Amino acid sequence: MRLFEETLSIPINSIPRGATFETFTLEMKNVPWDIPGADFSSEEGILDLDIVRTEYEIIVKGFLEADFTVQCARCLAPVIFPVTVGIERMYSWDPDMLSDPEVEPVSHNDGTVCILDPVREAIIFSLPAMPLCTEKCRGLCPRCGINRNIEECEHGFEA
Ligand SMILES: [Zn+2]
Ligand SMILES: [Zn+2]
Repeated sequence: MRLFEETLSIPINSIPRGATFETFTLEMKNVPWDIPGADFSSEEGILDLDIVRTEYEIIVKGFLEADFTVQCARCLAPVIFPVTVGIERMYSWDPDMLSDPEVEPVSHNDGTVCILDPVREAIIFSLPAMPLCTEKCRGLCPRCGINRNIEECEHGFEA
């Protein structure tokens, strides 16, 4: 199997009939992650692909492990967050199959199945809504803006 990192897509002519399992090491910088409030922080990510190809469809199970950096909601310091997400999608080129809203089309432009959107959504869903660098993070002073984990100011601590 081949994988285009720039679009996180798999050319269907590289997918054999039947079941195929392959592990890819992604160079994280090649993938357009484009995730609001987060950026990748590991150089590599591990993508397991478990693909079943039948006459009319391609079923893709994917599993990604990688580190992303988010911002502490209180002090804005970067926080590394290990992401482990799984996706499962069905793709087809058969018009009858495509009447099922669960089934996505194979790209006509380049004959690939693209898993970037579902993987991106799964990552966004897995990221914490209120990441904290530590439970005890004292945050930034609302008056002068200093990081109260590092410095004291005359404004006291009004959490
Ligand atoms: Zn913090
Ligand atoms: Zn202050």
